[in-house]
Amino acid sequence: MSDRTLLLAGNWKMNHDHLEAISSVQKLAWALEDAKLDESRCEVVVIPPFTDIRSVQTLIQGDKLWLGYGAQDVSQHEPGAHTGEIAASFLSRLGCTYVVIGHSERRANNHETDEIVAAKIKAAVSADLTPILCVGESLDQRQEKTHVDFTLRQLEESLAGLGAEALDGLVIAYEPVWAIGTGETATAADAAEMASAIRAHLGEKYGPGLAEATRIIYGGSVNTDNVAEIVASADVDGALVGGASLNGPDFAALCKAAVAK
Ligand code: PEP
Repeated sequence: MSDRTLLLAGNWKMNHDHLEAISSVQKLAWALEDAKLDESRCEVVVIPPFTDIRSVQTLIQGDKLWLGYGAQDVSQHEPGAHTGEIAASFLSRLGCTYVVIGHSERRANNHETDEIVAAKIKAAVSADLTPILCVGESLDQRQEKTHVDFTLRQLEESLAGLGAEALDGLVIAYEPVWAIGTGETATAADAAEMASAIRAHLGEKYGPGLAEATRIIYGGSVNTDNVAEIVASADVDGALVGGASLNGPDFAALCKAAVAK
């Protein structure tokens, strides 16, 4: 078994306003307490919309809840004239630990290129945020069997210009686009194949220390029934969970099933 702590991160996407967020986090915290998870083995994180973060921070810090939190995106720019953008330093000040970067919905709907993703990673790292970098292939690429090459290229380009020291703590989420929000899950073998290819790539590019330390998680229709099998692979260190993270008690049940790894 590796020393890497299992990461279970709930990406709420554009769900839950700040009042719903308070209720959802409270219920998640209660359910996690009841589930008596081994806290040394895993980390549970919520990733709400920007407008919820202050409320989530107040609740988690005020009640000293055993939960982390983060944001779903970040600007590549320093604070200034960038209407509608959120600077990495603002997220740091709100106590965020994590920031999701390069989610396939943003790559597709907001035209985020690997170059923009790399700039966002740099901005996040300089503000002491831990990026959760999302990579993964389309259905066509999987059917053409170019999924590994595509994903590794996307990874390489999304990390362009960053050295091993900047990537300390980085989390990589392998999220095949065809499995996100579709109910189609990659098999445990698919997730394991890609996680081990990503780890080997990190080893070649940045050395064995970074490859061994980096958490590689899987995302794409993960639920309570399939999570244990997915995280059973030695190279898969957790899950990025969308739909199944919206209900606190259900997400707690998923976390409990994962920790049985
Ligand atoms: C996601 O949005 O990152 C995701 C994995 O969503 P879902 O679990 O709903 O497929």
